[in-house]
Amino acid sequence: MAKKQFKTESKKLLDMMINSIYTHKEIFLRELISNASDAIDKLYFRSLSDEGIKRSRDDYEIRIAVDKDKRELSISDNGCGMNKDELETNLGTIAKSGSFDFKKAQEEGKADVDIIGQFGVGFYSAFMVADKIKVESKGYGEEQGYIWQSSGVDGYTIDKCDKEDVGTVVTLHLKDDTDDENYSEYMSEYTLRTLVKKYSDYIRYPIRMQVTKSVKTADSTDEDPQYEDVVEDVTLNSMIPIWKKPASEVTDEDMANFYRDKFSDYEAPLKVIRQKTEGTSTYEALLFIPSHAPYDYYTKEYEKGLQLYSSGVLIMDKCADLLPDYYSFVHGLVDSADLSLNISREMLQHDRQLKLIAKSIEKKISSELKKMLENEREKYEQFFKEFGAQIKYGAYSDFGMHKEELKDFIMFVSSFEKKNTTFSEYVSRMLDGQKKIYYAAGETVEKIEMLPQTEAVKERGYEILYLTENIDEFTLQVMREYDGKEFSNICTDNLDIETDEEKEQIKTENESNAEMLKFMQEAIGDEVHAVRFTSTLRKHPVGLSTEGMMSIGMAQTLKAMPGADKGGIKAELVLEININHPIAEKLKKLYAEDKDKLTVFSKLLFADAKLLSGLMPDKPSEFSELLSGLLTE
Ligand code: ADP
Ligand code: MG
Repeated sequence: MAKKQFKTESKKLLDMMINSIYTHKEIFLRELISNASDAIDKLYFRSLSDEGIKRSRDDYEIRIAVDKDKRELSISDNGCGMNKDELETNLGTIAKSGSFDFKKAQEEGKADVDIIGQFGVGFYSAFMVADKIKVESKGYGEEQGYIWQSSGVDGYTIDKCDKEDVGTVVTLHLKDDTDDENYSEYMSEYTLRTLVKKYSDYIRYPIRMQVTKSVKTADSTDEDPQYEDVVEDVTLNSMIPIWKKPASEVTDEDMANFYRDKFSDYEAPLKVIRQKTEGTSTYEALLFIPSHAPYDYYTKEYEKGLQLYSSGVLIMDKCADLLPDYYSFVHGLVDSADLSLNISREMLQHDRQLKLIAKSIEKKISSELKKMLENEREKYEQFFKEFGAQIKYGAYSDFGMHKEELKDFIMFVSSFEKKNTTFSEYVSRMLDGQKKIYYAAGETVEKIEMLPQTEAVKERGYEILYLTENIDEFTLQVMREYDGKEFSNICTDNLDIETDEEKEQIKTENESNAEMLKFMQEAIGDEVHAVRFTSTLRKHPVGLSTEGMMSIGMAQTLKAMPGADKGGIKAELVLEININHPIAEKLKKLYAEDKDKLTVFSKLLFADAKLLSGLMPDKPSEFSELLSGLLTE
């Protein structure tokens, strides 16, 4: 058969992988064994409901074999196998996610991390040690076997082959040894044993290998011992799943290896959570909080869920019902004896047992997060950097139904020390008589600090939470209050920080200048909802605020959403004029003497206020003309 090319992206990645000075080349074995185990899982699970598969669990095995003369190492399994199409799609494309993360990790210089294998590129890691790979496979229910062969980047071929049993044999022709690399070691019994122990001990099917042992012959005596070589079949792995082992027997490194292998991450988890319960529901859970968000975490492609085992048998890879959406970042597995093996997906959704487990897992995650926040602040901050948006989204979604559960996990940078703070920390610092929790929203902390209102509120000694993500304002609006203290956006009109005297003064000013303010509003046009004097601003002549529920940031977020009704979404903008700024008197004077000029001033001040809030003037060219007109007067 003619040689086929790998997809372009695959080619690049493959090339990178083959040529990378990768320190953990040995992980290729783990990858191939994992694939073999996955393939057996698939067939075994099918056998539970398919009469045609007459096998018991004990019939499954993974086999490692070495042919020193041919310089070959093979890994075989009697799992589900692949038909011709599957060979093509599964091995012809380095698909999925991987490439992005892989490149990113490389760019970040994480050459030493366990990069490969984590991205659905597991199989290809074998090219780190092999210059030629053969995959002979026969899919379950197929008559014909096929062989896939490749020597790396230049492509692959697929041909018919004679293979009697269902399953797969992957054969690697090892590269020649170099000054730096000893590929021959992968033919050594000792190395192979060690690698299996290190990376694949928990695999629940036996990984067997024939070893040659030197034993005393039966007729030899102690005085004159005679030895002969016998070939013996040994099982290299303990087959005890890691979550069944006592915690004292599992090192952090074992756990990290297991996690990376199982959940396709190149970094160790941030937190490992183990739970074992007995009573209303009996199960064991092994959960991981990743140290970074998967590249697709905040996209629709991301699928939440935990692996579900029933007494050690995998029955579902991603059981979504086990995790609430706001904890969708958790990876891991649940093993319960209470679940029936041949339960269908539909039945599972209504399974009472499963619901109990889910509830209890949620509680456990919450309590672990709380502990982390209290005792491991730095770790928690890292967690929040990666997954905080999800927590905030969780508090917002379903009309705030989960806010009680989540409110104490939320943090914002605040004006206090420009560090992350929780609401309860904020409340503990509130001034005597302060009734509200103040916040301001903007693109960055720096930009929020430049808002005229920020300056004014800070100067009065109040702390401000800085909201920089799209979801933030929505979350606080839905939450409404914390500990009885209302959230208050300092750029909306209900600030209530002036003294009674100031309030009185402003009221009078606004009333006595009502006509002028109306004139200014009309001069600016539809874009502005109102113009008024304020005493909250300090050095800035003007500021922009909004009336109603919709803030500037929220309107921007909503408008940016696909399918949004662009015309209908509008923040009601208010131009606020600083009564204590010389501009106030100037405006009054113009109203009495030169209304044309007041029109120009109104437009310019409104544009100025917009710029201060990070918005563009509606008509930049008009703004520029008016400004230069004024400057050249
Ligand atoms: P991943 O295991 O993350 O899906 P791999 O690159 O390791 O990615 O393998 C790609 C795919 O090839 C697998 O998803 C599986 O469908 C198929 N595959 C690999 N090895 C085997 C095997 N021994 N038996 C059956 N299918 C296999
Ligand atoms: Mg794999």
